Amino acid sequence: MIQILVSACLAGENCKWDGGNNKNDELLDFMKRMEGKAEFHLVCPEQMGGLPTPRPASEIRASDEAVINTEQRDVTAEFLLGADLALREAKKYQCTIAILKERSPSCGSHGVYDGSFSHILTDGMGKTAALLAGYGIRVVGESGLSELEKELESLSAEAKANVPSPKAI
Ligand code: SF4
Repeated sequence: MIQILVSACLAGENCKWDGGNNKNDELLDFMKRMEGKAEFHLVCPEQMGGLPTPRPASEIRASDEAVINTEQRDVTAEFLLGADLALREAKKYQCTIAILKERSPSCGSHGVYDGSFSHILTDGMGKTAALLAGYGIRVVGESGLSELEKELESLSAEAKANVPSPKAI
């Protein structure tokens, strides 16, 4: 059984900074299709780090990588705690893959906003995504779902092809 960590907001939980979610139907369909083949573990690192919902939006400041919210409060400690707790969850369930919300200062991969709160993307990852990737967990954004599914299907087909038939035993 494949163990997969998932950003809770993508699965429809109202844990996003504004009290809403980032429900992604493609992900929900994928989760249904993977029933019996994968287990999903939902996390919201920002809530796990002690931040309330709703909360002011935050971005990673490009100059020093501190996480600053729209009230100019430094919330780096909460973000790092959330990342640690998400990693603990991933280790507990032996997750090898994490499907995380793109562009988030916690969960984002392949680019995050630059701290100017003007929707400017810069290279880099969110605090949780970077920590998980550093521990060898494959981080996939919601736009990489179909590619991930194809890879998992071909791995499963290869595994089936390698199982000896009863006659061959
Ligand atoms: Fe979604 Fe991650 Fe932000 Fe939580 S921290 S709301 S899971 S993107």
